[in-house]
This record gives sequence, C-alpha cells and structure tokens, in this order.
Amino acid sequence: MSELRWNPVLGEWVVTATHRQDRTYHPPAGFCPLCPTKKGEFPTEVPAEDYEIVVFENKFPSFRPTPPEPAVAGDDLFQVRPARGVCEVVLYSPDHKGSLATSDVSHIARLIDVWADRYEELGGLDYIDYVLIFENRGEAVGVTLEHPHGQIYAFPYIPPKPAVELENSARHHAETGRCLFCDLLERELADGRRLVAENEDFVALVPFYARYPYEVHILPRRHAASLPEFGDAERWNLAALLKVVLQKYDNLFGFPLPYIMVMHQAPTDGKDYRHYHFHMEFYPPNRTATKLKYLAGCESGAGTFINDTLPEEKAADLRGVEPRSGKEISKGGTCPGGEECSR
Ligand SMILES: [Zn+2]
Ligand SMILES: [Zn+2]
Ligand SMILES: [Zn+2]
Repeated sequence: MSELRWNPVLGEWVVTATHRQDRTYHPPAGFCPLCPTKKGEFPTEVPAEDYEIVVFENKFPSFRPTPPEPAVAGDDLFQVRPARGVCEVVLYSPDHKGSLATSDVSHIARLIDVWADRYEELGGLDYIDYVLIFENRGEAVGVTLEHPHGQIYAFPYIPPKPAVELENSARHHAETGRCLFCDLLERELADGRRLVAENEDFVALVPFYARYPYEVHILPRRHAASLPEFGDAERWNLAALLKVVLQKYDNLFGFPLPYIMVMHQAPTDGKDYRHYHFHMEFYPPNRTATKLKYLAGCESGAGTFINDTLPEEKAADLRGVEPRSGKEISKGGTCPGGEECSR
C-alpha cells in the first residue's frame, strides 16, 4: 500500500507506505543485496561481478510510476491521491566497506555526473515536480543496509522544506533584486568564523542558523540553481570539497560520522527558479562522540530547533580537523584527538 494523504491542518502531504515495513533489515555479513553478485553465490540486486556506480529503482518505494489505488476513498476534507513518483537507489561503490570519504575525487566526480543525469531525466517526467537526492548514513539515522549508497526521491509536488526556501528566496529576490544565498555566502566569506573549507568554486560552512552542532552546507560561489549547470571543472571541485568535508567528519571523533545529506536544487515543474541557488546540506545527529541529538518536544512539537552549541565554535572544530583518510593517518600520523590511532 502506498498513497498520499493530505493534512489540511499543516497543508502538507504524508506518504502512507505500509509495504516498507518488510524491507531488508541488517542482512547477515556476506548477504548484502547491494554488493556485486559473485560467481556461484547468491544473486544480489546487481547481476554483475563488478560495477562502478549503479542506479536502480527502489524495491520498497514510497513513490512509484504506476502506483496502486489508495486503500481508502478520499473526500474534500480527507484528500487522498496515488503516490505517483520514482524512488531510486544509487550504489556509490562495489566496495561494501567503502564510503564517499575514502573514494577518489575522480570517482566522486563521476557520481556527480550520475546525480546530474538522474536529476535531468527524472525531472523531465511530466508528473515530477521535484527531485531530492540524498544519503542517510549510519544506524543513528536509521540505515538498514551499510553498503555505501544514496537515494533519489522524485516527487509529484514540491515538498515543504524546499518550498519554504523557494518562497523566502523569491521574496528576497523581489525585494532586493539579489539572490538570498549569494548574499548569505558573501557575508559568511567576509566574516570567516563559520567557514569549514573552500576551494576555487565551492565553500563549506556551518550556517549562522545551524540546527545541528555539526551541520554543514556546501554552496557554489557562482550563482547556479542545479547540478546540470556545473561544468567539468566545477564538478571536480565539488567532488574535492565533498571529500574534504566527509573526511573531516570521519576524523572528528575517529569513527565514520552518521549523517543525513541532502541536495536542494530548483524544482522541475517547468516554472522559473533562476533566483534559487544550489546547495547541499549535511545533518549529523551527533552532539559529541557519544551523545546524539533527538528531535524532542520543542523540535517535533513546535518546529523550533534548539542547538546546544555555537556554530562559530563547531565550525572552528571542523576547520581544525585534518581532511585525511584513516588509511593515510595510520601511515604514521595520529588521530585528530591526539591518541594513538587504532586503525
Ligand atoms: Zn555490500
Ligand atoms: Zn545565488
Ligand atoms: Zn536548503
């Protein structure tokens, strides 16, 4: 069962997807459905002995191109509609123990090409208004398969969070004639306290209004609304900065930091979103190495986040972490904490 139910109180859709209860949950070692299929062994989702990057339709989708009829009949107050859309899985690497942080920049750049292609192709479908590319990593954010992978949800509407960003950036543009994100970036660069890392084309920072202690946003210096607008050199630099940020995350506490990564791009409903500015957002749930932030009363009930830390201090922490992989560190260096590295 999969359908969209309208909440007229909040003015938003909820996806009811009961079949997802049956999805693969922490398969035993050696039975990963996302690894390549090895000769003579059980068939995985990928019928090949090796691969570079693979995209396929999610077996337990929240949206599908030909959705079933809703389980209940709707009316004008209790509105319901089929959950028409597309959900895809993107396998980053055949290496079960791999991650983006340990991938070569050239490999991440190819992944960016794949993301750009999927954004264009899914966004080109007449029933798709918004393409969300994201990754959930780590058990702390509910990941049930540890193999390095991300997901793509192609929505038949613009979901609430991007919708609010679009509304506010459109208003700023109407009032000032400028892009809200370009203005924010200019101020962050001039201030410098919340910067984490940067290169010729992209900047990583902890935003002034961060909801999570180690929240990082990556923005292009140049005004652009979606991935396909970036040329090869820019894609390479995005890949390079992505790797730096993720290595810093993994070296922060000396273990792969759980995170949610999302990409915010222009909607694909055919309207004009030239005022919008592409960016990536990372929400790691960790407050410390051992404490997680939970969405409790104030966050869940009021929608107001309480951040127990100063973004200026957390950005300084991340700036100070070496962007090297564990392998490089164990070649003779020490972990960022100063202790003997156990890897
Ligand atoms: Zn695997
Ligand atoms: Zn801009
Ligand atoms: Zn955003």
